[in-house]
Amino acid sequence: MIYLDHAAATPVNPKVLKAMEPYFSHDFFNPSAAYLPAKKVASDYEAAKATIAHAIGAKASDLIITAGATEANNLALTNMANVLYLETEHDSVRNVATRYGGEPIEVLKNGVIDLRDLKSKITDNIELVSVSLVNNELGTIQPLTEISELIREIKLDRLRRGIKQKLLLHSDASQALNLLDINVARLGVDLLTLNAAKIYGPKGVGALYVSHDVKLLPLTYGGGQEKGLRSGTENVPGVIGFAKAVELAKEHLNGNRKKYATWRKHLLSELQGYELVNKKHSLDNFIVLCYNGIDAERLVFLLEEKQIYVSTGAACAASKGQKSHVLSAIGLTDEQIAGSLRLTFGETNDENQIHEAAKIINAVVASEKERLKDV
Ligand code: PLP
Repeated sequence: MIYLDHAAATPVNPKVLKAMEPYFSHDFFNPSAAYLPAKKVASDYEAAKATIAHAIGAKASDLIITAGATEANNLALTNMANVLYLETEHDSVRNVATRYGGEPIEVLKNGVIDLRDLKSKITDNIELVSVSLVNNELGTIQPLTEISELIREIKLDRLRRGIKQKLLLHSDASQALNLLDINVARLGVDLLTLNAAKIYGPKGVGALYVSHDVKLLPLTYGGGQEKGLRSGTENVPGVIGFAKAVELAKEHLNGNRKKYATWRKHLLSELQGYELVNKKHSLDNFIVLCYNGIDAERLVFLLEEKQIYVSTGAACAASKGQKSHVLSAIGLTDEQIAGSLRLTFGETNDENQIHEAAKIINAVVASEKERLKDV
């Protein structure tokens, strides 16, 4: 098998699994219990949160652990009045934002935020701006520092004019932690979403960084865990695994970046007859190809027969047969969207697989072109 869909899911790293195991059995105690073994579990849980927090330049007390990035995005955006969100955001941002008076900010043809559009839309009643650090369909890296600088200026201007409306910046960094060195202060964000499932950690575990001066309302009410914002018994094995995955991501960040940049170059030179969609500003493990006149859904199916797993875009949209809102936003025609394939490589791959994948994809595309000639 050659798996080229790491943006959809990553396998749990064996070291992560090993770190988690004791907390399913021997160290199963509820961290809120009063006896000593439970207190040890509580302290391990806090240490794991500190590891995750330190990796983004934050403190354990700034993190709210959630059941994945969807929940973290919901926690960040729910109850915010007047939200601006990038039109290419994941549905877990878009579908919440639109419930709270959300308005989309446009992207340029290269997938990068149109800063002029953002500037013109931050009126005095806007409370939150949400821009993901890395887009999950294109791998586009957004200029968060530039955005936060603009927001800082607008906040100062509001202050000068006596306008009390706060203005927050949220970023969904689900796809970013593998290959980018994230620091919340440098990015200038108030809220940041993390996702264990995309960094070889367990699924259903995420976190929201919440700057100490930001007040959020809980999504769930109960025992008051996670500073009352996310009640429910802590997912101790999940968070231990998340921390281990974060440690490993940091350790391999530079090596993986170089490796993926080389693989990207190789794949792009060996593949034939495509147009590259994400030419610039993208993480190196994302390749989005457009095969004009070919049905990419069919390619996914034909490649699966050869044990190559790729996707046409976000797994959730693809499974519903919906047209990608991301590819529409960057101006692709319906025909181009229908012919677009996303390849995202990662730790399950090696150099040989990349060459092998190029050969097989070329052959499948060529035979599909032949078939279409006869139709
Ligand atoms: N945000 C981004 C950018 C994603 O890529 C994903 C997952 O595909 C999510 C949010 C949602 O993550 P989860 O399904 O783990 O809650």
